[in-house]
Amino acid sequence: MSETAAAERPAASLSPEAGRTHGLPVAVLAELTHRCPLQCPYCSNPLELDRPKDELSTAEWQRVLGEMADLGVLQVHFSGGEPVVRRDLGDLVRRASEVGLYSNLITSAVGLTRDRVFALADAGLAHVQISFQASDAALANRIGGYRHGHAQKHLAAGWVREAGLALTVNAVMHRQNLHELPQIVDMAVTLGAQRLEVANVQYYGWALKNRAALMPTRAQVAECDRVVEEARERFRGVLTIDYVTPDYYADRPKTCMGGWGRQVFNISPSGKVLPCHAAETITGLHFDSVRDHSLGWIWEHSPALNRYRGTDWMPAPCRSCAHKDEDFGGCRCQAFALTGDAAATDPACALSPRHAAIFRTAEVEAETGTTRFIYRNPTGGTAEA
Ligand code: SF4
Ligand code: SF4
Repeated sequence: MSETAAAERPAASLSPEAGRTHGLPVAVLAELTHRCPLQCPYCSNPLELDRPKDELSTAEWQRVLGEMADLGVLQVHFSGGEPVVRRDLGDLVRRASEVGLYSNLITSAVGLTRDRVFALADAGLAHVQISFQASDAALANRIGGYRHGHAQKHLAAGWVREAGLALTVNAVMHRQNLHELPQIVDMAVTLGAQRLEVANVQYYGWALKNRAALMPTRAQVAECDRVVEEARERFRGVLTIDYVTPDYYADRPKTCMGGWGRQVFNISPSGKVLPCHAAETITGLHFDSVRDHSLGWIWEHSPALNRYRGTDWMPAPCRSCAHKDEDFGGCRCQAFALTGDAAATDPACALSPRHAAIFRTAEVEAETGTTRFIYRNPTGGTAEA
C-alpha cells in the first residue's frame, strides 16, 4: 500500500462540502484486540467479543494503516480491549508513523513495561491515554476486576512522562466512584497528565447490563458538574478537562461521534468498519470488513455507514428541529437499546416521547439499584462474588 507523504495526502476536514453528508474522516479508533486482563463492568466492547483467531494480522493492519493515510485520516488511536497484548503493537505504531499518522495508545496500562513504553516512543508514538477506575486502589481494583492493576497504572504513567510522551488520564465515572472525583482530578495533576477525561458511563453493551449498579443519582451528577467547573478554573493552563455528562439526566442528546459516519470510524479486531464502538449492538445492520473492501470504498459506499448519515433519515420531531444539524439526532445505539428502533429520536432528548420514562428509570435505579457488578469477559459476564 501507499507510502504517501503526509503533505501529498488529501486534507481531512471536519465540515463536509456543501451537499454532502460527510467529509474525510479525521480519526480512526483501531481496536486491535478484545483481549484484556481487566473486566470493567462498563466496557464499551460488544457483549460478544471477537475471538483472538479472528483478529486482523500484522500485515492486514499495516495495509489498512496505509489506506487510512490515503483516505486523509490524521490520527489513529490504538485501542482494544488492551492493545498492549498485541506483540506487534510497536510494528503498527512504526507503520503509522511512516505513513504520516499521529498515533495515540489507549490502554489500561496493565502489561506495559518501561522498556515497552520507550520502544513505542521510539517507533513514533505521540500520546498515551491511561484509564483509571478510581483513585483509591482497593476500589479501582474491584471495579476493574483485576488485583494490583491500580499500582501498575501509576508506574506506567511515570514511564510515559519519562519518555516524553503526552499523557491523558481517562476516568469513567458512575455511582460507585463519583464521590472520588476531586481526588481523581488531583491524581491526574500529580501524574503530570495534560488532559483528564471525566467520562460518565454511556449505557449500551456491558454498561446497559450493569446499569442498575452504575447509574448515578441526580445529586451526584449535579456535584460532578460543580467539581468539574471548579477544577477547570483551578487548573487552568495546567490540566484540560474533557467532560462527558450522563445522557439519562440530559435534556439534549450528545452529538454522538460528531454524527454517524461523518468524521470518524472504528475498526473492530476482526476488521469491521463501524461508525462507533457500540454500533454492533444494533441488530440488522451489516458492517463491511477491510478484508473484503478497501477503506476508501467502505467510507463512501458501505450501506451501514450511509444508513444514518446526514439528516434525511430522521423521523419527527428531529426532522423539523432546529438542532438537527448540531446533534444529528443523538445516538443511534442508545435509540436502539431503549426503543428497539435505531431510527427513533434518542430518548435522551426531552422532545422524545420516551424521555420522561427513561429519566424516571434512571432515578429509580440510582436510588434502589444493586452495587454488584457483572464483570466483562468472553464467557458473557461473571457476577461479582
Ligand atoms: S474498559 Fe476495562 S475491560 Fe474494557 S477494554 Fe478497557 S480496561 Fe479492558
Ligand atoms: S428533536 Fe432530534 S434534532 Fe432536535 S434536539 Fe432532540 S434529538 Fe436533537
